[in-house]
Amino acid sequence: MISFYPGPSRVYDEIPDYVKDAYKRGILSMNHRNTEFVKLCEKTVKLLRSRLGVPPDYTIFFTSSATECWEIIAQSLTQRNSIHFHNGAFGEKWHQYANRIKPGALSNPFNKDEELYPLKAIDTTDVICITQNETSNGTMVSTEIISRFREMNPDHLVAVDATSSMGGIVLDFKSADVWFASVQKCFGLPAGLAVLICSPKAIERCVALDERNHYNSLAFMNEMIAKWQTPFTPNVLGIYLLMRTLKIKM
Ligand SMILES: *Cc1c(COP(=O)(O)O)cnc(C)c1O
Repeated sequence: MISFYPGPSRVYDEIPDYVKDAYKRGILSMNHRNTEFVKLCEKTVKLLRSRLGVPPDYTIFFTSSATECWEIIAQSLTQRNSIHFHNGAFGEKWHQYANRIKPGALSNPFNKDEELYPLKAIDTTDVICITQNETSNGTMVSTEIISRFREMNPDHLVAVDATSSMGGIVLDFKSADVWFASVQKCFGLPAGLAVLICSPKAIERCVALDERNHYNSLAFMNEMIAKWQTPFTPNVLGIYLLMRTLKIKM
């Protein structure tokens, strides 16, 4: 089956075998506080770092979806407001989700036939949100432009939704502070897992805000991932499948 739908994509052909392996190796009932899980988590994070070229000082987290990442950015990394540069359905939706958590989120639509022009964002905002690959219309923002936004806004965090491109194209992670993608698009895996990547500057903001009102507050997640764990029971099978595909693909 070939599909041009934005996602989920067709999973890799090896997935059924990996699921069987997961069952045989006890992954499906693995305790997420055990050393086996800790080893799996560490291995997967290290593979992600080397395969995707994530800088050594960036932190990699596991969440359950890109939508969850939108909320984590609004609740745990935004003190004042976020400003959203968007030209399609996913970027617009991100603005709506952020606005519900931090009312007053700014919306800056741009024409999908024009390149996004890097601007200095107004200082009532502190997070700049850009959809790198707008899945609904196939337009991309280059990492050079994202990088210009970062240079022009040294007090802001730059957050990038790369849901339908991460795993498929080379991304210059240094050009932004927060990156995320769920795995059912370009990673070719079943839905229910997402990867969230944070720069040292994003982690500094997380620690300074110390927001702890949610099960997925980034402050909790940051403490747990230092021990290769998550505050909640993660999608262990998803992490295992990601590890297996990273080992052979790309
Ligand atoms: C699919 C998609 C999302 C939503 O992903 P979920 O895993 O369903 O939360 C967000 N942003 C972009 C760009 C997408 O393509």
